[in-house]
Amino acid sequence: MSDILQIKNLSKHFGDFVALDNINLTVKEGEFVSVLGPSGCGKTTLLRVIAGFIEETKGDVLIKDKSLKGISPENRPVNIVFQSLALFPMMNVYENVAFGLKRKKLDKDEIDKRVLGMLSRVGLEGFEKKKINELSGGQKQRVAIARSLAMKPSILLLDEPLSALDRKLRERMKIELKELQKEIGTTFIYITHDQSEALVMSNRVAVMNKGRLEQVDTPVNLYKHPGTSFVAGFVGENNRFEVKERSGNQITTKSGWVLEKPDLEFEPKVMFIRPEAFIVEPAKELNDLYRFEGFITNILFDGANTKMSISVANEREILVSLPQNAKFQGLKEGDKVKLGVGYNNIKCYKE
Ligand code: ATP
Repeated sequence: MSDILQIKNLSKHFGDFVALDNINLTVKEGEFVSVLGPSGCGKTTLLRVIAGFIEETKGDVLIKDKSLKGISPENRPVNIVFQSLALFPMMNVYENVAFGLKRKKLDKDEIDKRVLGMLSRVGLEGFEKKKINELSGGQKQRVAIARSLAMKPSILLLDEPLSALDRKLRERMKIELKELQKEIGTTFIYITHDQSEALVMSNRVAVMNKGRLEQVDTPVNLYKHPGTSFVAGFVGENNRFEVKERSGNQITTKSGWVLEKPDLEFEPKVMFIRPEAFIVEPAKELNDLYRFEGFITNILFDGANTKMSISVANEREILVSLPQNAKFQGLKEGDKVKLGVGYNNIKCYKE
């Protein structure tokens, strides 16, 4: 697959404020890439620069090896699905999807073919004459996507399009959207602050923080091998520990918990352990494990898992997550419990 989008050394300043700080990102044709980050990190700004609504301060955006500098938004080979969807309530479904095609002055047969073809692809065959306010949230979503895809963009930009939907519908639309993207093959750049959306749908996720890309990777790699402490704390549930000092193989947290982590080649400032990385009552023959004892302060049933808060040394709230069939059965609050964590599951960072 060839590169469809190249973002090179891209920065955007608003006065003294740096909203985008030297962004570099390459996206392959047909990829589903999410830009994931907390509110205010610059996601929408990035999207708006790609779409041409605002101009970059430095750097360049190329689509199919062609720089977009000086090209107006309507002449860029991209289309946006907005959070608000921006559908026209006075028009019916057909007219909404046909809107951009009519403006482009395509002939009537071509418009008809594209609109009907796209509506059938998004599962809205027969809805042509319906008014927008007669549709459900999920159906409106699909009209907005059909309207954008009917323009045959090289890249579809989606700005948190599921955020207005209720939780159940959002769960379903995530899967539908991923399926649709696979079937149509258009490159999607999807902006979201919701990590579960990003992880479920994307081939790769670009994690953004304070105008910078922290890590661009597959969902599995982001979860298993977070490259920075920000990614470790932002993607998935994690226990975070501030490190006071390291001496040889021993790490002491600020609260005074002393752990063992061999072969660390730098001075860590922060340490993370995933809740599911802990083993309850580890077998004697298990190696490469730091073993410790703690007290159960809280047990929370959570469907497929049971979560426990453990206190050890002065670390009060270590979250431990265990599958329902684990051998913690019978343990209760106040019990002393033996735990272990593999050395490789103790992730340390310099900052
Ligand atoms: P959210 O998830 O809340 O939409 P975001 O990651 O999309 O956030 P942006 O909208 O890109 O964030 O904004 C990034 C930063 O740039 C914010 O601090 C915002 O206040 C600032 N910003 C955005 N547009 C402008 C502007 N036109 N003038 C000045 N500052 C701006």
